[in-house]
Amino acid sequence: MSLKEQVALVTGGSRGIGRAISLRLARDGARIAIGDIREEEGKGTVAEVEALGVEALFVPLDVTQQESATAAVRQIVARWGRLDILVNNAGITRDKLLLRMTPQDWDAVLNVNLKGTYLCSQAVLQPMLKRRRGRIVSIASVVGIAGNAGQTNYSASKAGIIGFTKSLAREVASRSITVNAVAPGFINTEMVQTLSQEIQKQVLERIPLARFGTPEDVAGVVAFLCSEEASYITGHVINVDGGLIM
Ligand code: NDP
Repeated sequence: MSLKEQVALVTGGSRGIGRAISLRLARDGARIAIGDIREEEGKGTVAEVEALGVEALFVPLDVTQQESATAAVRQIVARWGRLDILVNNAGITRDKLLLRMTPQDWDAVLNVNLKGTYLCSQAVLQPMLKRRRGRIVSIASVVGIAGNAGQTNYSASKAGIIGFTKSLAREVASRSITVNAVAPGFINTEMVQTLSQEIQKQVLERIPLARFGTPEDVAGVVAFLCSEEASYITGHVINVDGGLIM
């Protein structure tokens, strides 16, 4: 229960990796606010967190909208009086080769993945600066490091998160706020399950640990970065990819 008393906001926390992160931080004792555009699934995850004996709250959140981010943070601070942890997890893909990519595909991905990370991080800074403690962990991707054909918009957004993480880490380090990123490889969620059997086989052959990751693999590293044990780590990117990128 290393995160006891603490309050965490997990964006896109209703399902997939965000749900696993919410449940893991709850098991470590943190009170959980799930911020998502998916209200029904979000409330389902809130119920799962509460079943662990931990307080939880669903906050309607569109990470692309500044007013939505500030309203969500206001609601959390009104409920619990503090906000210690932000996990920037909300993310989308609109995969296409660049020749066919529209400005709408580009903007949609950059807005959710990168602008959303900026807006939510900015919104949580006030309560964190006040307490002179905080943890911001953003979910990037190995694609932001190594690139991937068909994902110029997505990899640009994830590379952007890495640059953002390092710059913000420098800005807020003197206030004991750490800012890190986790870069998952192929994680067994809908994203991987929609790949054909043939592609899945080809991908597996490139992963030294010879399996897809689980949402819990990612959640464990996020929990570590949020813990006291990680208080001397900032501005870092940790790959959770079975050795895919070395
Ligand atoms: P999911 O699509 O399962 O979950 C993301 C959640 O974020 C969904 O509930 C989604 O709603 C929500 N969301 C989308 N747009 C917004 C928004 N504007 N404001 C608030 N919430 C929003 O994704 P995953 O669990 O697969 O991925 C989570 C993160 O991990 C993402 O950042 C992704 O890029 C990253 N990642 C995933 C990998 C994988 O293999 N799955 C690999 C590497 C990185 P809706 O479903 O309606 O869009």
